[in-house]
Amino acid sequence: MPDTKIHFTVLTLFEDMIRTNMGTSIMGRALENGIIDLNVIDIRDFSCNKHNRVDDYPYGGGAGMVMEAGPVYAACEKARGLFPDAKTKLIYMTPTGRTFDQDIAKELSETEHLIFLCGHYEGIDERALELEADDFISIGDYVLTGGELPALVVMDAVSRLIPGVLNNDESAGEESFENGLLEYPQYTRPEVFMDKAVPDVLLSGHHENIALWRLAQSLIRTDAYRADMMEQYVTDKKTIKKLSKLSDSDMLTDKEKEALNEILLILRKNAE
Ligand code: SAM
Repeated sequence: MPDTKIHFTVLTLFEDMIRTNMGTSIMGRALENGIIDLNVIDIRDFSCNKHNRVDDYPYGGGAGMVMEAGPVYAACEKARGLFPDAKTKLIYMTPTGRTFDQDIAKELSETEHLIFLCGHYEGIDERALELEADDFISIGDYVLTGGELPALVVMDAVSRLIPGVLNNDESAGEESFENGLLEYPQYTRPEVFMDKAVPDVLLSGHHENIALWRLAQSLIRTDAYRADMMEQYVTDKKTIKKLSKLSDSDMLTDKEKEALNEILLILRKNAE
């Protein structure tokens, strides 16, 4: 059995949501192989109330309930005590946090013990967060009912970066965001599906042309969907020359050539 590379602990009111999802597919296999480890703590176990309640009305009024500081604080302390010597980060999943991305996933993958605090209702009493939260992470500009899905998103993205979690370790290095671009389109058999053929270049066996075509497709996608990433993307003059040659070849459709010509203007400007 390999050494466990990262410990995840989730503090939640809905244990099943975490266990069911983490027990499935690639995460399930990584857990079974012991590469990652999962602990789930039910915040309700720390309720000081005979009805097991962990929420109360907000001071100052307003809609909704707030999770009490006491049970949250006690659950956090329990979580920290599981691996007291590990490099630990306790993250409150919240729409008010920094927005999660691939760079944050990489940063978190270097931690030994990640603790996720999942809120519900209107959120958590600020004092528990002041005492316990090391980081505040949002998975996007929208509001969900609880922090469990955000915690699952982060655990999934982080786990893929842990060696041994994916079958082919290299595949984590070629994906969207890894080189500052979105990934190119992928194809598998059959060669023709509903009259749509796989692009010829992918069947040519010409590795250099395939790499260049894929780069062009990545650029076209990134420009179409993520102009903000395109603005940041810088490549060398040699690659720009190769791409401008490609924009004249029959490897691209007329529409793709037009898009690539526009992109070349941006690349030349970014390279200045
Ligand atoms: N009142 C809070 C606000 O306006 O920021 C929203 C509370 S939300 C209904 C309940 C819980 O869901 C939050 O405490 C948080 O843990 C989680 N949550 C909701 N949306 C999220 C997001 N985009 N990213 C991370 N966590 C989120």
